[in-house]
Order: sequence, then C-alpha cells, then structure tokens
Amino acid sequence: MNGNSAFEAKIMEMKEQKKISLELLDYILHSATEEERETLYRIARETSQAVFGKNVYLRGLIEFTNYCRNDCFYCGIRAGNRNVSRYRLSPEEILQCCDKGAELGFRTFVLQGGEDPYYSDDRICEIVRAIKKKHPDHAITLSIGEKSYESYKRYFEAGAERYLLRHETANEEHYALLHPASLSGAHRKQCLRDLKKIGYQVGCGIMVGTPHQTTEHIYEDILFMQDLMPHMIGIGPFLAHKDTPFRDEPDGSAEETISLLAILRILFPKVLLPATTALGTADSLGREKGILAGANVIMPNLSPSNVRDKYLLYDGKICTGEEAAECNSCLRARMAKIGYTVVDVRGDHPDFSSAETAGNNVTKPTEEGIS
Ligand code: SAH
Repeated sequence: MNGNSAFEAKIMEMKEQKKISLELLDYILHSATEEERETLYRIARETSQAVFGKNVYLRGLIEFTNYCRNDCFYCGIRAGNRNVSRYRLSPEEILQCCDKGAELGFRTFVLQGGEDPYYSDDRICEIVRAIKKKHPDHAITLSIGEKSYESYKRYFEAGAERYLLRHETANEEHYALLHPASLSGAHRKQCLRDLKKIGYQVGCGIMVGTPHQTTEHIYEDILFMQDLMPHMIGIGPFLAHKDTPFRDEPDGSAEETISLLAILRILFPKVLLPATTALGTADSLGREKGILAGANVIMPNLSPSNVRDKYLLYDGKICTGEEAAECNSCLRARMAKIGYTVVDVRGDHPDFSSAETAGNNVTKPTEEGIS
C-alpha cells in the first residue's frame, strides 16, 4: 500500500461504507506494516469508545460440564478424548459460582459446556430459573451447543436472554474439515437464526487460524455476520490440543486475531466483542491488546478451581490455577493499567439496553485515543 495515509483512507472508507474487500482483508491480515496496524487499531478503538466509552463489561464464565457427545477435531473435550477427567457441576455448585460472581460485581453469568445429554431441557430450565430467582438483575447467557427451536424457546422462557454459538466457519467445505460428518455448518447457522428469532441476544464467531482456513473463508465469515447481524461476536486464535486430531497443527496468530477484532469493531460499531481467554493464552497481553483494538468485553473464569484444569479446549489455557476472586482483581487491574474501567452492569447490546442497565455513561466516551 502507498504509505500510511493511503491505508488510513482505506480504513475510513471501510468505516463509512461498513464494507471490506477481500483484497483489503488479505492485506491487513498478512501484509500490513506495524504502523498501518496501529492506525487500524486506533480507528477501531475510537469506534468502540464512541459507543461504549472506556468501559469494559465482565461476563463470569461457568464451565459446568466437560462431557460432550461431539467429536469436533479441534476441541480438547471431544467425546473421543479418553484422557479427559470428566466432571459435571450440580445445580447447587452452579448457584454457588453465581453467588460468588455476584459478590465480585459480575452482572452476567455465562453457562458453558459440552453438549452433555445429562442436562436435559428440564434440568437446564430448572438451573436457569434458580439463578434468576436468586439473582433477578443478572443476565444469563447459555453456551451449550446445538439444540432444537423448542429447546431454545424453553430456555428463553425460563429466563436465559443470551446465547453464544460460534458458527466456527461459514464455509461448508471448511466446516466439514473441522467437524465429524454428523455435524453440519448449515444446521449450526439455522440454530443461530432460530435463537435470533426467539429473541435472544445472539453471539456467533470463529477461531482464527484453524487448519485449512483461508482469507476467503474469513471473508465469507464477515459476509455471514453482516447477514445475521449478531449482538456478540466471539473470536480467538485456534490453539492445538495434544489429544486431538489437530495436535500437530500450528496455532493461530494473536496478531491476526487482534487485527480481525479491529476490523469487526469497525464494521459492527455496537457489537459486543470479547477479548477472549484464548487470545490471552496466545499472548500474555492479548486481552489488553484486544481491548485497545476495539474489544469491549472480558470473560473471567468463575468455575470452581478444582475443575478448571479439566475444561481444557486447548493446551496452555491461562488462569486454570486461580480462584474467581484472583481472576477478578487481576483483570480489573489489567484494564485499569490501559486506562479502561470495568463496569458492574449487565452490559446488554445497545439496542437491548436502557440507559441505566447499559451503564454507558459511567465513563464518558472520548474522542482521543490511548497513548
Ligand atoms: N459446546 C458449546 C461450547 C463450545 S466451547 C458449543 O458447541 O457452542 C466454545 C468455543 O471454544 C468453541 O465454539 C470454539 O470456537 C472454541 N474452541 C474449541 N476448541 C478450541 C481450540 N482448540 N482452540 C481455540 N478455541 C477453541
């Protein structure tokens, strides 16, 4: 590209038109200079600050089961992995995690797990209702995989308001290279549309750098997202797990992930965009860099410390030896260090939230970047 100002003009054009070309995407991910990447991050940061200020939302992640009936080629808790010590949290244990989270100031609980048939719809609804009863001002997010429309509807009626289901890749052929034949990309996309129709705040997303992923795939992912218009987008680098078919595959890059976060922020100014634990694993300052490139959500772990090292989707996962309180204070300090404030609000998508619940005025949006 012809100097940084030409690059900046391209990014501003992308911001105005809410469109990116395959060419520009490829250039940003693979050829941009450090100076150009900094320009991209600054524009993404300004875009985020115009909507959210310098506020960061927390989501307390409760990994309540590592049983899974699926055999996704990348995932450490896949059914075929005999080396996993399997666990399930009881409803009481899950509630205790929520109590702890509420005490620490979290206003969202994310219940994530493998696709574990033990948790029937009745059990899930019971757990959701129990949490809602005790913590009525808190948002509940589910991330428990592909279910029927009816099941999703029941969870919603029980009180779950948000659902995370990364589409993993929008390209069907690529999807088939990452998953067993029993799973299809088409069904996963249908689930996302069902969730949206029911009224959930919906999160899709991908891993960056999965085996066989091309820039064209990421371009298709962006087009899919522009069609779905999710409320959240979860992305993180692919990280190999030693007990999976992808054990010898190279890890995804933190830098590419951060650049993609910035692109997504510019294309989706209001979307909830986490700087993920996988990004913090790939680069020890990954979450900070993600926030400074436009992300606005962090998902600290609320799972009991005795099960944390059993929910290993990938090798090297950070924070597996810590208590919830430690993760909480560590993350708040990390955010303060880069000039951001963790706000103890539900942090709904701007289109879903009233002024009080969004807490968007806790820190006034600013025009200037971070030095
Ligand atoms: N069973 C739920 C939750 C899956 S775990 C579901 O199907 O949605 C949440 C996310 O972790 C996955 O969607 C995937 O994108 C990510 N993940 C799984 N294995 C990973 C790996 N090896 N490296 C990085 N991210 C991974």
